[in-house]
Amino acid sequence: MLASDPETAIRVIRELIDAAAMVVPFTGAGISTECGIPDFRSPGGIWTKMRPIAYGDFLASQEMRDESWRRRFAMEEQFGGAKPGRGHRALASLYRMGKIPGIITQNIDNLHQASGIAPDNVIELHGNTTYASCLDCAKRYELSWVRERYLSSGGRSPDCPACGGYIKTATVSFGQAMPEAAMRRAQALTESCDLFLAIGSSLVVWPAAGFPMVAKRNGARLIIINRDATEFDGIADLVVHQDIGAVLGPFVCH
Ligand SMILES: [Zn+2]
Repeated sequence: MLASDPETAIRVIRELIDAAAMVVPFTGAGISTECGIPDFRSPGGIWTKMRPIAYGDFLASQEMRDESWRRRFAMEEQFGGAKPGRGHRALASLYRMGKIPGIITQNIDNLHQASGIAPDNVIELHGNTTYASCLDCAKRYELSWVRERYLSSGGRSPDCPACGGYIKTATVSFGQAMPEAAMRRAQALTESCDLFLAIGSSLVVWPAAGFPMVAKRNGARLIIINRDATEFDGIADLVVHQDIGAVLGPFVCH
């Protein structure tokens, strides 16, 4: 069913959550827009104006690595200052109640962790932009460390002092392999739940598109909360096209 108004949406979401033993949320950009994080892929989003740097290009030239870090630091105001929104806090509340074993996300903004979900329980399909790592030895570097070297060298992307490898934000770039372990865990979580909650994702980009079907095939109920219609609205038990923060806000426990 399509919820006709926020009140109906909230009531039916509550009924479905109460009836479920294990809820697995899958989140996309829409849950973070109220936190000031832009939706890169949306019409008017940054990726429609500026082509993202593909993984191969990052590896191929120092100029592209420098440019990639220049862009990242230019966005630090948005990412660095962002706080979890009502959607994040609602999911964190359900997590504390034991309803949610883990969250699958397409987001790279670290806001689920910031809302109180243990990092181990956040499965990031596209990585995380709030820290960096060496592409060769996987050593983690904080952005402040990268920034200091970037600025002191006149805008040059630093290499790993331990092994000489390239240092990149811990995101999955276009052309970079999907993280296999995260994919396996996301699949297992999806198969184990009895309520799958797709929030703020257009469910178009692979592998996001596959999860609602997997959940339904395994007998789970499906709720889709997204500003726009998705291809999977027809198989969902509840479809909500209302504001995410407004319909999830009542589920925040203080
Ligand atoms: Zn290294």
